[in-house]
Formats: sequence, C-alpha cells, structure tokens
Amino acid sequence: MNIKFYNTRSRATETFSPINPDAVRMYHCGPTVYDYAHIGNLRSYVFADVLRRTLECAGLRVTQVINITDVGHLTSDADEGEDKLEAGARREHKSAREIALFYTHAFLQDLAHLRIKTDGTIFPKATDHIPEQIALIQALEKNGFTYITSDGVYFDTARFPAYAEFARLDLSGMREGARIEKNLEKRNPTDFALWKFSPKDGKREQEWDSPWGVGFPGWHIECSAMSMKYLGEQFDIHTGGIDHIPVHHTNEIAQSECAAGKHPFVSVWMHNAFITVDGKRMAKSEGNFFTLSDIVARGFDPLAYRYWLLTAHYRTQVNFTWDALSGAQAALDRLRDMVSEWPLGGAVCNSCDEKFRAAILDDMNTAEALSVVWKLVSRDDKSSADKKATLLSWDRILGLGLADIKPIEIPLRVRELAEERAKSREANDFARADEIRAKIESFGFEIRDTETGPKITKK
Ligand code: AMP
Ligand code: ZN
Repeated sequence: MNIKFYNTRSRATETFSPINPDAVRMYHCGPTVYDYAHIGNLRSYVFADVLRRTLECAGLRVTQVINITDVGHLTSDADEGEDKLEAGARREHKSAREIALFYTHAFLQDLAHLRIKTDGTIFPKATDHIPEQIALIQALEKNGFTYITSDGVYFDTARFPAYAEFARLDLSGMREGARIEKNLEKRNPTDFALWKFSPKDGKREQEWDSPWGVGFPGWHIECSAMSMKYLGEQFDIHTGGIDHIPVHHTNEIAQSECAAGKHPFVSVWMHNAFITVDGKRMAKSEGNFFTLSDIVARGFDPLAYRYWLLTAHYRTQVNFTWDALSGAQAALDRLRDMVSEWPLGGAVCNSCDEKFRAAILDDMNTAEALSVVWKLVSRDDKSSADKKATLLSWDRILGLGLADIKPIEIPLRVRELAEERAKSREANDFARADEIRAKIESFGFEIRDTETGPKITKK
C-alpha cells in the first residue's frame, strides 16, 4: 500500500517504507507531567493515534513509545529556569514523584476519553531510565562530543557539522545574537546540557549520582536514551509539535547520531501544527489554555474535540473557539443519530472507500476524509445499512466510537403514541398532535419531524 507522509527532515512528502517491511517503530515525545495537559498538547496525541491507526489499517505491526517526562524539563525549554516537576511539587505542596504519578494518570485518562489507542503502547518514564541516560552521555564523552562547565556536562554542537541541517538553523545569526547569552561557559550558543549538577548550596528533590557529580539529566537526553532502548539506534517515525523542531529534536538527532555513529537516527520526522486561541499559541505560559475537563464542564463530549481536530489537516494551525467546538459536537451528534438508527448487515461501499483511503494515505488528510464521510451520508443511491457498514469501517481510523453507539430502545407505548400523533397530523388535528408530543416527552423521549419522517430520540 502506498502511504505518503510529509517528512520534516526532507521538507517533502514521501512514500513511506519502513526499515522492516511489515513492522513500524515509532516514538512520540510525551507529556511533561507537572500539570494537566491542555487540549493543544492533546492534538499531538490524537495526531499520533490517527497515524498508528493508519499504519495498522495498512496491515503494518506498530511498536509505539510515548515517554513520560518526569524530570529535567526546565521552564525555558533550554538549560535555564526551574525544573517543571519541582515547580509543580512546590505549587501543590507534594513530592515531585506524587505530582508525576497524579498527572500521568490524568494524561492516560485524557487519552482514553479521546479514544487514543494505548494497547501495547510503551510509556517509559525518564526517572526509570537514569542509567541508560548516563551510559549515552558516557558514549558521547568517549567519542569526544562533550565538555564540562561549572553547572553541567554539555554537548559541543560544533563537533557535529550537520547540527543546523534538520531545522535549517542560521548558526552565524545565532552567534551574533549570543552576546546576551546567560551561560558564558558555553562554547557555542546552540550547545546544550546533557547532565546538570545539583546546586552547590542545596539539594534537589530528584537527583542522582553520576560519573560527573550529583545532578539530573537534561530533557533531550531522555528521549534519545528511551527511544534507542525500546526502538533501536535507527527507527521509522518520530513525532511531536512543531516547537520541537529547532531545539529538542535537533538535539536528539545530534546526541543519537554522535553516540551511535549511525545516520539517519530516524527516517521520518512528523510534526503537528499548533492550536491557537485568538491567534496565539495555546500554552500554559500564556494562560490561554483549556483542558479536556474544561470542555466536559461546558457540556461537550471529548470526542467532539477529536472530531474538531479531524476537520483540519494535522499540519494546519487551527484556532480554537467554543463556537467551532459546538459545530463539531452537532456534526458528531448527527453521525451518531444516523448510526444508531441505521440497521446493521450492509456492505462497505467500495468506490467511497477508495476515496476515503486515498485521503488518509495522502499524509493523513482527515479533513478530506471527513468530507468523504458527509458525501456518503447524503447519497440517495446507497442503503442506510451500506452507509452504516462503510462508516463503521472508516471509524477504525477516525476513532469516533461509532461502533459503540447502541441503537436506542424506544418503548412500545412511545411508538404507539408516535403513530397516533402521525394520524392526528394527517387529520390536521395539530392541537391533539402537540398534546401527544408532550406526552412522549413525559416519557423522556423527543420527537422531531425530519425530511424522512418523524424521528424519536432520547431527551
Ligand atoms: P509538553 O507536555 O509541554 O512537553 O508538550 C506535549 C506536546 O504538545 C509536544 O509535542 C508539544 O510540541 C505539543 N504542543 C504544545 N503546545 C501545543 C499547541 N498549542 N498546539 C499543539 N501542540 C502543542
Ligand atoms: Zn522528546
């Protein structure tokens, strides 16, 4: 099957061919578990889930890793600022470990609410892989890529000539801008910490012994160490948000390729664009974020958010509004209503299926795939059973849970009342029809007159 993905590494859409022909190994940069994920973060994992489902539907076996960052991610994303986990612990008067456990659990619940598949997914924690990270830094040290400053062990990016390639960095421009560099011991502005020492005058809550002194690993080294441990020194796909391109992923490539001496570390790099609010990136630091619980508190189904995400290509930046979410909820409700009313036992429409597949296999164009969904739904030449069979087969990729929607059971008395109401309307006795409608409502059901006749739904 011909699957095409946009590869950040080449800046081109390419035909995907895994290193092992029938199996794919992929890694997704996971959450920093110091707070709830916001719905912008969750876009990364819905995108990763559609990717997994696409590969699986194409008959490939998928090994998937989502790491849990529970140490080392500093508030600056670089080497300055406080460890986000220690800041979270202070905020909530708990230990960093308690904070990590709590928000890891919340993250896994978010994934479940969004129907993100996790069977077989490996969720390694950074704090469980300190020896692996130390070993990787030792390999880099042995190969001559490191140097030591008063606050840690650093990677010397000048020793890796390809450093600027991945993100198309302008290194000379960065050197110009480096006059305001805070850390004067760094040899190059792009150099980054592999291991940071605990402060001389204090103890960190999470710290470990190392060949260089007590401290903690940098944020980037955990992803290199854990991806290589579970997926090998070279693997197929690595994903994350676009913010990771210039620093985090650039650094991961430098570390992994210099430690293992193999190129490329990853064949295909894929990045999702941002969710914005009023045109600004949704971010904790901006204070303009919503969580999945905020959505639920406003009466939305988490899957309406998933549906809304699917209406845009993952590489398109989209602006979140409550109106847009209402539209998505209404569309999802309509699909659910139809699926619950239509009978089982139909056949998948092959010509429609070709269009749907073509959209998904073209760099996961879910926006186009959803337009194929609505074209199918409005076709007069297809039975509702066939439409249902087709939708259910597509839902293996869309993940909207359509197969789990139970047909609504309407009690005999309500069905009798509906018939009586239809007769009253035929006889132009609208007063009586309204009375019956009220009675139907008192049973907890609602009757709507649609183009194809009256429809009864649960209130
Ligand atoms: P973090 O928990 O901060 O490490 O981020 C988890 C994931 O969310 C990463 O892949 C980020 O690139 C991604 N991300 C962060 N902000 C946004 C946003 N506003 N829209 C989409 N993805 C985002
Ligand atoms: Zn990462």
